Formats: sequence, structure tokens, C-alpha cells
Amino acid sequence: MCQFDVSYQTFLQSPRSEAVFLGLAQGRYDVREFSDDPTVLWFWRNSADAPYADSLLKRIKLRRNFYLSAVLRWEAKEAENHEMANSKLHLASHFDSSAIENFLSFVALTVIQRNLDPLISAFSLPVFSDFRSQIFLLTNGVMLILLALFMCGFVYVATKTVYYLPMFSHRIDPQEHNRIKGIMGLVILLAPVLLFRNLYLIFISYMLLLLFTINMRERNWLRMILLSMVVVFVFSLPLNHFVSFLKKNSKYYYMYEMVHYDSNVHINPDSVSSESERIFLAYAFKQQGKFEKAMSLYEDMYYTGHRDIAVVNNLANIYFVYEEEAKAETLYAYAMRAGDRGEPFFNMGLLRLRNLEYSESSRYMAEARRHDFSSSSSEPVDIIPSTNDFYQAILSEPLAIFGVINPMLVLPLIIIFVLTFLPFRFPSPFYCTTCGRAICKKCQEQMDDEVMCKECFTKLKSTENVEMEALLKHSVGSRKRRLRSLIAYLVNVAVPGAGLIYMGRNFVGLLVVFVVMLGYTPLMFPTMFIKPAGWVSLSLLPIFVAGALSVALVTYVYSFLAMRSSHGD
Ligand SMILES: [Zn+2]
Ligand SMILES: [Zn+2]
Repeated sequence: MCQFDVSYQTFLQSPRSEAVFLGLAQGRYDVREFSDDPTVLWFWRNSADAPYADSLLKRIKLRRNFYLSAVLRWEAKEAENHEMANSKLHLASHFDSSAIENFLSFVALTVIQRNLDPLISAFSLPVFSDFRSQIFLLTNGVMLILLALFMCGFVYVATKTVYYLPMFSHRIDPQEHNRIKGIMGLVILLAPVLLFRNLYLIFISYMLLLLFTINMRERNWLRMILLSMVVVFVFSLPLNHFVSFLKKNSKYYYMYEMVHYDSNVHINPDSVSSESERIFLAYAFKQQGKFEKAMSLYEDMYYTGHRDIAVVNNLANIYFVYEEEAKAETLYAYAMRAGDRGEPFFNMGLLRLRNLEYSESSRYMAEARRHDFSSSSSEPVDIIPSTNDFYQAILSEPLAIFGVINPMLVLPLIIIFVLTFLPFRFPSPFYCTTCGRAICKKCQEQMDDEVMCKECFTKLKSTENVEMEALLKHSVGSRKRRLRSLIAYLVNVAVPGAGLIYMGRNFVGLLVVFVVMLGYTPLMFPTMFIKPAGWVSLSLLPIFVAGALSVALVTYVYSFLAMRSSHGD
């Protein structure tokens, strides 16, 4: 297959390009005469606005081309209407069928157009088997979980702070307990929000405050959140390699590009050390048409005993091309014995076909099909380095601690986790059992075995009979309960699920908030996600908005229904 990039440059610099341009512009040539020449077609579509060239380009088979695909996505982005954007995206996918950018652009178009056709195009692309696309989805998937987890913890801490706020502001001034001073305390308590204006610092400071108040169940949930954040952080460490791959800072990116794309990147074979890197490079050289370089790498591996089935088969293919049939045959025979791949059988079949041994040839072809391999190729087929090979190579690098997530941000979480096991607590009582007002040891009163505030105490003491007392207790209590549930509903309006946490239904609440945050974080922290180098796609905002809206709808309905049902008990 031709090297588009190289031949296009040569064409541009040659006098032929001018002649072709004039001929086409003056109508002496018809663009259809060049229907099998991608360089002329590409040149003509770029020099003149020639949509017909696009439809001809769609019929040409080229190696995956990152650049052409990106140019077409750019045009799709700037397109005047959806129809044009759609057709540009189709051509972009023709040039690079496995790029995640094309897939996401089609999905974005689905949302904008409210039409399922682009979605069908998206899922017909072989995106998920591609290494770069997998890495992209994996990295941003982990990022999404980590951010959602953090926000989930933040909402938990914020909600519990709201719940315990009256108590905190009461305790700030232990001298004299009146309401004015309570408001001053409130202002002091809100200081971290006003001072830091940073979600992380606010999270840490309120967590430290809550640590000494929340009950055992609430503390366990806090530990759960902290622990899962640390665990996800640990699992995110290999992502640092993936990020440098996506940002084109890794040598493996260039090897991937050479293996899968029409690319004129050159890596010096002496600079690579590991076996897998040499296999990538040898395969890539062969794709670039550098047969001699590929052969010397393969032979080097073969004769030093690295007889991977891909090495043997691909080296034999080079011998096949150079008509060194005896050598090729020996190697095919070796490869057929060595592994369970169909390619060597197919290639051996081709070799027999060339020597007009038809029955032998069809025997090998049948054997190839038995090994799940068939092809209409008339040339020997190479074994392509698999995504697995890339994972193995990239993960064999030593782990980098600094990268996507700063480990210094994780340290405080670990410290707080340890602190949750300290026995120190604020002394109870926190609230008056009758009216629910915040109280402390100093302003508490005891009646029978109930602890209450001074006001309730005097009220209840003045009633003489038990019936009146119960009635009074009930009316004072229900006023407080109504206020509590009003706050719960308000909190739930702010973040669906937080109302449930406020009411003490921590598990369901956390689950709902987590789902909510999965939908919200792409909109809240767009810069935290990893954008690969050279990224061009339709705006993904419509996808994120649609995702956030549907998540919001479902979780609002669910959380409010759940809150109503828990009022019964
Ligand atoms: Zn009271
Ligand atoms: Zn007090």
C-alpha cells in the first residue's frame, strides 16, 4: 500500500501538480480520470471546493491516516449543516476507522440532530479494538470515577456539616449560650468556604471538623469514601503512562503510529532494547516499505532465538517477496507448528499457488480457515502486533507516582482516615431531645432520663399532668421535624441524593449522589479530563449536557420519592 504522506509531499513539489491543477481548472481533465490516485484527489479537493473528489476518495483504500481524518473532522466542525457534517465525518472515518474522535463526533451529532443514524455509524466503527481508543476511554473513565468519588465525598461532608452546623456554632462559644453568639459562630464556621474557594481544601477542613462529631455509622461511611479514593488513586498510577502516550510524550505512541498509521516517523532500531519494541519496529518498517531494515531486525531476532510466531511468519513473508522460497517455506512450516494462528497456513497456501500447486494450496487455505483466518489478499499476510503487546510493553515501564493525580493530595486523605480511629469526641448531648435545638453539657437540663434545653425544661416543668406534657412535647417536636425536613428537601434540590444523606439514609444517598456526579463532573471539571495531542472533534458539550440532564431527571425523581417514603417511619 502506498505511503500517502510521502507521495503527497513529492507530488506537491513536482511540476506535475501545477499541470494537473490547470488541467482540472480549465476542464481539460475530468477528476474521474484520477479516481485511483488519492494524492491528486486530495490535492484537488483542497485547492478547489470540489465535493465530487470526496466521493471518489471514499472508494480508495488507504492505510489509516491521522492527518486526513483530522482535517475532515475539522471541516465537519465548521460545516454549515448537519448533513454536510455527517458526510465529512463519514469520510473522516473512512481514513481512520478506529479513531475515538470519529466515534465521539458521531455521538455528538446524534445528540445535536436528535436522529439515531449517526449513532449507528458510530457503533459500526471498530473503535473499541484500537489501542489508543481503549487507552483514551480507560484513562478518562478512571478520571470520571475518581472525580465522581471526590464529589460524592464532598457532598457527604457538606451535607453532614449542614446537619451538625447548629451544634458546631453552639460549641464555638462555650461561655454563654444565646442565639446571637450562635450566628457569630456560624460565620466563623463558614470561613473555610470564603477563604479557600477550593473544593479540596474546603473538603479537608470540614472533614476534620466532622471527625469529632459524627456517629459511628456516619464515621464508617466517611472511612469507606476515603478508602475508595485512595484505592482508585493507586489504580490510577499506571494511567500516567497512558497519559504520556495520549499526549505523544511516549516512544510507544510513535511505535503505535508507525504500526497502525500511514506515517513517516523513523525510530532508530539501535535505540530500542526490548523484544516487543523490536517486533513493533520491524513490522512498522515493513509497512513503510523499508524491507531491508525490517528484514535485518527480524533476522536478528530469529537467529538469536526470539522465534515469536509473528517474527517467523513476517520474516518468511519478506523472503516470499524476495523469492527466497526455500527459506520462506521452512519458516512457514516452523510457524505452523509453533502456534495457533491461521496466517502461516494462508501464506503457505499463497506460496503453493505461485508454484501452481493448486491442490496443495487449497489444502493450506482450508487449514488457515480452520484456524479462523481467511483473507482475499493476494499478498502474504503479516501478523500485526496486538493491543495486548502494546499493553505489555507500556506497563512494563516503572510506575510514575507523579502524574494525573498529585500524590500530595492523597496524603491528607490517608491522615484523616487514620484520625477517624482516634477516641477523642465532642462530648454529647448535641441536641435537645424535645425540640432538637443544639445544646451542650453546660446548658443541658435533665428531666426523668431525657436531656433537654433550658426552654423546653421550664415549659415542661410548668405543666402538671402527663397528658399535657406529652401534647406539648409533640407540638414542639413536630415543629422541629418540619424544619428538618424542609432543610432536607432544600439540600436535595441542590444535589439529588444529598437530602437522603441529610436524613441519615447514607447508603442510598451516597449511591444516588455518586450517579449524579458521574453525570455532572464532565461539565463541572472539563479540564481534568485527558485530551490527546492533536485532538480534533465535534464539540462534546451536547453529549455531556444530555448525559447530565438525563442523570438529573432520574435521580431527582428517585431521591424525592425515596425521601417521601421514608417519612412514614
Ligand atoms: Zn428544647
Ligand atoms: Zn450550651
